[in-house]
Formats: sequence, C-alpha cells, structure tokens
Amino acid sequence: MNETVFDSDGAFPRLSAEQIALLDATGSRRPLIEGELLFEAGEPTCDFFVIVNGVVAIIDGLGTSEENVLGLHGEARFVGELNLMTGELAYLAAQVRESGEAIVLSRDELISVIGSNQRLGDLILSAFIARRAMIVDAGNGVRVVDVKPFEASRGLREFLTRNHVPHSLVDLAHGNQGRQAQDGLQVGPNDLPLLIRGSTVLRNPTNLQAANALNLRHPKTSDGAWDTVVVGAGPAGLGAAVYAGSEGLQTILLDAVALGGQAGTSSRVENYLGFPAGISGSELAERAAVQARRFGVRTAVPERARALETDGRLYTIELDSGDSLQTRTVVLATGASYRRLELEQLAHFEGAGVYYAATQVEAQTCQGEPVAVVGGGNSAGQAAIFLANHVEHVSLLLRGTDIRAGMSQYLVNQVQEADNISVLLRTEVEQLRGADDLRAVELRNGDTGSRWEIPVRGIFVFIGADPRTGWLGDALLTDDHGFILTGRELALAHPEPYQRRSGRVPLPLETSLAGVFAVGDGRSGSIKRVASAVGEGAMAVRLIHEHLAGLTPPSVQRAAMASAGASSA
Ligand SMILES: Cc1cc2nc3c(=O)[nH]c(=O)nc-3n(C[C@H](O)[C@H](O)[C@H](O)COP(=O)(O)OP(=O)(O)OC[C@H]3O[C@@H](n4cnc5c(N)ncnc54)[C@H](O)[C@@H]3O)c2cc1C
Repeated sequence: MNETVFDSDGAFPRLSAEQIALLDATGSRRPLIEGELLFEAGEPTCDFFVIVNGVVAIIDGLGTSEENVLGLHGEARFVGELNLMTGELAYLAAQVRESGEAIVLSRDELISVIGSNQRLGDLILSAFIARRAMIVDAGNGVRVVDVKPFEASRGLREFLTRNHVPHSLVDLAHGNQGRQAQDGLQVGPNDLPLLIRGSTVLRNPTNLQAANALNLRHPKTSDGAWDTVVVGAGPAGLGAAVYAGSEGLQTILLDAVALGGQAGTSSRVENYLGFPAGISGSELAERAAVQARRFGVRTAVPERARALETDGRLYTIELDSGDSLQTRTVVLATGASYRRLELEQLAHFEGAGVYYAATQVEAQTCQGEPVAVVGGGNSAGQAAIFLANHVEHVSLLLRGTDIRAGMSQYLVNQVQEADNISVLLRTEVEQLRGADDLRAVELRNGDTGSRWEIPVRGIFVFIGADPRTGWLGDALLTDDHGFILTGRELALAHPEPYQRRSGRVPLPLETSLAGVFAVGDGRSGSIKRVASAVGEGAMAVRLIHEHLAGLTPPSVQRAAMASAGASSA
C-alpha cells in the first residue's frame, strides 16, 4: 500500500508558526485519536483541520477493495480541499493514523480567515486548487461505470469534467473494478452509465440528478428577492458575480452547463491581463468561481433559464428545473455559440490548428507557414489581411460566388492588393489532416465537386456566431441577428418602444427592460474577448447600483446619505 508523506510544495505547504497562531485564534483545538475518521467521501460538510501534531491519511475508495492511501499529512500541514469552498460533498476520506492534536475551523471560520489575511488566504486557496487538479488528474473521486465504447456516459463525463468533478471511468465488462461495480447490483442495459459515489449508485442519471447527488446545485434560498441574478457563468457572468458579491449585493449565478463558459473550454488564454505565460481557461474559471463564492455569491449548475418575466416591480427567472427566482435586477451573460465547421476531428484540432480568433498569438504559431481563412464577412477579411503580414500565404475560402456580397469594399480592395492572399470562391473544407497538429486541409469545389488538398498550419474560422438569447422570446429588444441591444445603440434604434417600456434613457449595457443588463458575447456590438466580457460584467454592477438608487425614493436616499455622513464624521 502506498503511504508516502505528501511533499512540501504548492499543494501541500507547511504552515509557519505565525500562520498556525492565526488559525488557532479563530478555530478550536481538539484531540486526534488513532483510527478516527475525520470525514468520509460523500459527507456534506467537512471542517478544515490544521495538524498541530499527529498524522492524518487521505484515502480514496475507503472500505472498498480499491482503497488507496494517497498520502499522509503531518505536523503543520492542513487537511482540506476545494469542496470546502464550493460546498460539494467530500470526494476523499481523512483518517487519523497517529494520535495527536488539531485546530478545527468550520467553513465559515475558514472563509473569514481567508478574507482577513491575504498571504494565508492565498496559500490555502492555491493549495485547494492544486489538490483538486491532482485528484482530477489521478481519477480519484466518483466512478462512472459504462461499457466500451463508453458512448452512453459521454454526456455525463463531459458534464463532470467541465465542472471539475474528480472521476474515473470503469469498464463494467472488464477487470476487478468492473466486477466490483457489478457486485450486488442488477445492471440492465438502460441503467448505464452508473454514477457511484461511496454507497450511492445513480442509474443513467441526468446531469441535473448527478449535480444534486454531488451537491453542485445549492439551495436557492433568499429572504425575498435577490438583488441580482446573473444568467450565464462565462467570463462575463463570473465578472459580474465577483463584483456584485464583493459589493455586498445578494447574488446568484447560474449556468446551464458549467461555470466558465467558452473560456472554460479554451486550453490556453494567452492574452488575459496579468498572466504573462497564459492561463488555461478552466483554471481561470475555477479561480473566478472560488473568488465569487468567497464573496458570498450562490452558484447553481446546471440550471438553465427558460423565461424572463416581470410584474413591473420585480423580475422572475423561470428555470428548466421547475424552480423560479425573483430578483430586483438581472445580468444576462448567456454568450454566443461560434459556428463551427461540421468536420470529423474538429475537436481534435481546435486550439492545435483550428482557431476562432486571429491575434498575434495565433499569427506567431503560424509564422512563415501557409494558412486558410474560412468566411465571407468582414471578420474573415480582417483576419486574412492581418495574417498576411505574418504568414507565408493565406487562402481565403468562400462558399459564395462573390467576395463583395458580405465584405466591405475597403477590405475587398486590401485583400485583392495583397500578394500573398488567394481568394477561392465556391470552396468548402471537407477534411482536416495531420497527426497532433494540423498539416493540410482537403477542399471541395461547390460547382464541379472536384477535391484537392492544400498544406496549411492553421485554419481560421469566421462563419458567424449565434447568440444564446432564444430563451428570452420577445421579452426584450434585439438586433436583427438576435444579439441583445443595450444603452445608446438601443436608444438610437428604438427610441419609442424603449420609452414605452422603461420611461427613461437606458444606462450603458442596459436592455429595453430597466434593471436588466446584458454583458459579453450575447450583447449586440460586443468585442468577443475574455477581457472585455469580464470588464462588462464588472461595469454592469456599477450600473445596477445606479439603477437601484434610482428606484429608491429621494427622501430615503437623503436619509441614507445623511446617516452615511454622520457615521463617517
Ligand atoms: C475556441 C475558442 C478560443 C478562444 N480564445 C480566446 C482567447 O484566447 N482570448 C480571448 O480573449 N477570447 C477568446 N475566445 C473568446 C471568448 O472565449 C469569449 O469572448 C468569451 O468566453 C465570452 O464570454 P461570455 O461570458 O460572454 O460568454 P460564454 O463564455 O459563451 O458563456 C456563456 C455561458 O452562458 C451559459 N448559458 C447560455 N444560455 C443559458 C441559459 N439559458 N441559462 C443558463 N445559462 C446559460 C452557457 O452555458 C455559458 O457557460 C475564444 C473563443 C473560443 C470559442
């Protein structure tokens, strides 16, 4: 059996005497008795333990034939994982191996220490995030049981991965684990996949049932209406939630799939401020989610909004789960889906040759090599011109017969003047070729059906994006493509309908419903970048305050200002 003491690194730091004293001042001391279980996998509320002396083992699959001691914590180490922040059930067990003494902090006490001491907070949160990454990589935690080719479990595994739930895949038909998974269970073909957590077995669960079993969905309790409901947890929604929480607004953040949005699926975001070496989209999302929760934001996943209604005073968001939320303000951050080429192996090459943005980063990757740009709009034209300055050659691939049909004349001129751009009309991409990286694409002529291959290092896809705003029906005004109109653009496009709906000039980012703001990719005219989405989220919170202040009768505002003046005097 593996019984190594955890190495002293970012995931398992040693606390200094001062840090232990700080934690001691908030928590309480208790003895550790050999053999005692501090917590088991599946327990809803765990405490945070600092080991003063003694040894504690961290165990996966406790009590099963697969039981594995992942490591031992000794003096001046702490026992705990990201679930202490997220409210998820524990994925592992902790058992005392050598008696001693510990300092115990409840979740709330821990959050208060993290909030009041930046260095210690940083150390603990970074360790939690690193520990979660380790148990996700090692496949500890819950078991997903399926049979080859594991098609039945694909959706569930994707959901667990997007939500950073540690899990492993067990083939029911093979090996010890498979036999053990079947042990005592009658498993019919319609039962697959199974989701096993400790003694709990879910048969062919929906994502919602899995989320409930793992405590990913928090009770949406609130005393009356929320101050704000943020719909969509991509960078824009996370940005809004962090700022709303930090400014004391009672906030709930919901997402139909997972916290992180499109950025959460990006292998590396290279151009986000403050991360010179880039950061994986999923780590950025995880850090932001922890930050939001630290500020008291409630999160609910998977929770799809299906309608927005108002009684003129409060808004109601109806959810697919059957629940509904009442709120004074709403931040709509449901993003857009970039249209993708329907090609085999697309997912394999995304980020390794297939790109949806043409920035310096992608240009450097393809420096001096041939590339192709797909699309006939201005974004495709701009990308082709930009890339032509960096790469050997650009093939601009259009399905139509006329480049002028969708592209502004000034871009058409620049495309035609560039020596190293060829325009291929009536041309579609049929196949992507390469091993790990893209090396060539097979093309097809729409008129003749002839096929040929061109070598490319990158293919840049600009065939449009569809806003995820269909669920709003005609609740608010959008542009011709369904992107939500806000602020000045809204007032210019629809002065009369806007006046009828809210009775005042829209604030920036405000939709045709007063107090409902739209941010990120789903907003008409948005920039479609992680940083701009986060920035708009932050900005919306400032505007929410402005809106709420406008709802407060002037007499109450004057009284509040007078009392604020008195207390600061
Ligand atoms: C492959 C790829 C790589 C990229 N790389 C970069 C990059 O390197 N740098 C950069 O700056 N930008 C990059 N982008 C663009 C960037 O990811 C987006 O601009 C950004 O994610 C937009 O954020 P958002 O919050 O507006 O929307 P999204 O990230 O799309 O998030 C919207 C969220 O809303 C949820 N949602 C939708 N409908 C509902 C509903 N009805 N109820 C509840 N939830 C709902 C979705 O599940 C989703 O999580 C990339 C995009 C792609 C596709």
